[in-house]
Amino acid sequence: MGKRYRVGILGATGTVGQRFVQLLDGHPQFEITALAASDRSAGKPYSEACAWKLPGSIPEAVRPIVVQPIEPPLDCDLVFSSLPSSVARETEAAFARAGFPVISNSSSYRMDEDVPLLIAEINFEHLGLIEVQRQRRGYGKGFIVTNPNCAVTAFAPPLAALHRKFGVRSVAVTTMQAISGAGYPGVSSMDISDNVLPYIAGEEPKVETEAQKILGTFADGAITHADFAVSAQCFRVDVIDGHTASVRVNLNNSSTLEDVIESIRAFPVLDLHSSPHSFMEICDEPSRPQPRLDRDNGGGMTITVGRIFPDNVFDYRFVALSHNTVRGAAGSAILNAELLIDKGLI
Ligand code: NAP
Repeated sequence: MGKRYRVGILGATGTVGQRFVQLLDGHPQFEITALAASDRSAGKPYSEACAWKLPGSIPEAVRPIVVQPIEPPLDCDLVFSSLPSSVARETEAAFARAGFPVISNSSSYRMDEDVPLLIAEINFEHLGLIEVQRQRRGYGKGFIVTNPNCAVTAFAPPLAALHRKFGVRSVAVTTMQAISGAGYPGVSSMDISDNVLPYIAGEEPKVETEAQKILGTFADGAITHADFAVSAQCFRVDVIDGHTASVRVNLNNSSTLEDVIESIRAFPVLDLHSSPHSFMEICDEPSRPQPRLDRDNGGGMTITVGRIFPDNVFDYRFVALSHNTVRGAAGSAILNAELLIDKGLI
């Protein structure tokens, strides 16, 4: 058996934090040794501090761990962060400065030019930024790596396939985002039941900019963002888990529908513990993907793509679905940590 790493979770009691705890249970490389959250939770055993909202119960080994404040040091080799952006910026820098690799879900550092914004299957060469970041920020052994906004995670993978093959010129995306994306307690039931909310604070600017960084090229210590515009409208819908993106795209080079489909189907996968057999799965049924039926594909790590057709105004359109707390948050962060180990960066 390979080396086991001791991990801490910042924001361990929240929606994403709980998903980390669930996904790390029985993980061959990671063992949870530290949990941290707000003053409301600090000092209590995790089983008391956490209002567990996932199916099944809290893993036995984690129940007695006493929740600590979000201050370094913690008794671990690396930290996963699922803190609100209001506290993430300062806290994640403090951990990186103290020598911890920080693998973050928060938006605080995603667009900083020396911080990788990573989807492991797409842009692992961006990890070259870690050395730049360490030197620029004087972090020593520590660093920060981020994963994208959970709605971007749904459509950036098929876009990556199209961009590599044909070049993307412009994108219009409408997202239908699940309730769990707002954390817990999140959106009030009076607001979301029987309803669609056409505004998610701060979301559209993220959805309009992050894919260009992910699909950018890394050279000479910097990323040149991909040169296409994204127009986004983001909606909160009455779905518990699973973000759906309706996408229309113009391409630089002409292509057949078969080539478009094949570019997505043939996109390379990784061979890491948390990488699914299919990074992207194409469903042919006209009524799919649907959050309730498809969000758990590949253990929540597969992006499901359907309804790929030529479009009357754009070149092509498609619908993409991703599990927002697994592929869109904790699962991707864990995969990123596995990749960092595989590349010798942790
Ligand atoms: P959440 O359910 O509200 O959980 C927030 C966590 O942060 C809790 O553990 C909470 O601890 C802790 N926290 C809140 N304020 C704090 C403070 N001032 N000091 C220390 N700890 C504090 O939120 P979430 O949905 O898990 O989201 C966490 C982060 O992940 C956010 O940045 C979010 O944007 C990002 N994200 C979320 C999703 C998603 O689908 N939910 C997807 C991708 C990225 P207490 O329990 O002690 O209050």
